[in-house]
Amino acid sequence: MSKRDYYEVLGLSKGASEQEIKRAYKRLAAKHHPDKNQGSKEAEEKFKEIKEAYEVLGDSEKRAMYDQYGHQAFEQGGFGGGGGFGGFGGGGFGGFEDIFSEMFGGGFGGGGRGRQRVVRGDDLQYNLEITLEEAVRGVKKDIRIQTLAECDSCHGSGAEAGSKVETCPSCHGSGRIRRQQGFFMTEQTCPTCHGTGKKIEKPCKSCHGDGRVHKTKNLSVTIPPGVDTGNQLRLSGEGAAGENGAPAGDLYVVIHVKEHDIFVRDGSNLYCEVPISFTMAALGGEIEVPTLDGRVKLKIPAETQTGKLFRVRGKGVSSPRGGYAGDLICKVIIETPVSLNEEQKELLRKLEESLEGTGKNRPKHQGFFDGVKKFFDNLGK
Ligand SMILES: [Zn+2]
Ligand SMILES: [Zn+2]
Repeated sequence: MSKRDYYEVLGLSKGASEQEIKRAYKRLAAKHHPDKNQGSKEAEEKFKEIKEAYEVLGDSEKRAMYDQYGHQAFEQGGFGGGGGFGGFGGGGFGGFEDIFSEMFGGGFGGGGRGRQRVVRGDDLQYNLEITLEEAVRGVKKDIRIQTLAECDSCHGSGAEAGSKVETCPSCHGSGRIRRQQGFFMTEQTCPTCHGTGKKIEKPCKSCHGDGRVHKTKNLSVTIPPGVDTGNQLRLSGEGAAGENGAPAGDLYVVIHVKEHDIFVRDGSNLYCEVPISFTMAALGGEIEVPTLDGRVKLKIPAETQTGKLFRVRGKGVSSPRGGYAGDLICKVIIETPVSLNEEQKELLRKLEESLEGTGKNRPKHQGFFDGVKKFFDNLGK
């Protein structure tokens, strides 16, 4: 149900004086006061309507707002409540700034007066998956994004070629309207022109007056060396085009590095596991280990235990901000021989016999079983 005009409610014409408004209110309020009408629902509604009309028309500032914008000036919930958010328009990352200017812009010194509301295009995000090698060395990638781009037919103006673009009559081109909210004077995006400040006579047929159309864009992205999962690259102005020729948003390319078969990355270091034979572990030797740029030799000292870490300096990843490269850390794993033939098994048995009882060859083993013995001895007490 639409509201009755406040002047009509008080039985007045638009040009009524303050005196006339006050007099009309007093007379009508007395007549429809619920106390005088024995709880009549109709009278109560009528009284409310009169009171509301007077609250606006009896206040010169509110009255001016009402004269200019009608009921609309007071309808939306204040301070971003209820439907208010929809009007902010900026979308994407601009939201907070907008809420603050909505709340305080007009309240303190009227900062926004005369400034045209520019609805910047949305920021976009693109998730890009790359290999570890690409992340370490840097790479150039071609990507395709679905976006809102400036309309070619009207060059973003939203107006059909040759048609007139006028200043919005509601906000006089500022894109903002001010209204009273209790003690505050607040400012809001103009609901008539949605902040553009313009009134388009004939909207462009290609974009229906928005100045933007859906398009697929091809972009080439240069990924610097050293990036890691979660890093973002900002491509300024490559987001969605703004409304009616406003600036475009930005495109954020978010990096996801695929898992590697050999290496695990932790910051600037790379880790890998290298299996070695137990003979080499015992006698020492030299092995080749992979790095992202070729193989390097790694010396295994005699008596190396499984799980020992070896550091190959400078074969990790450099930070995208430059600086020293991290290290490659190799964890050696002693591989137990499998599929042995009888002869090999016999050799191992012989070796085992020669080791038996000599704690000297197996200090860890000896230490462990000494500990176990002590444990059970203690239990027995
Ligand atoms: Zn257009
Ligand atoms: Zn406007």
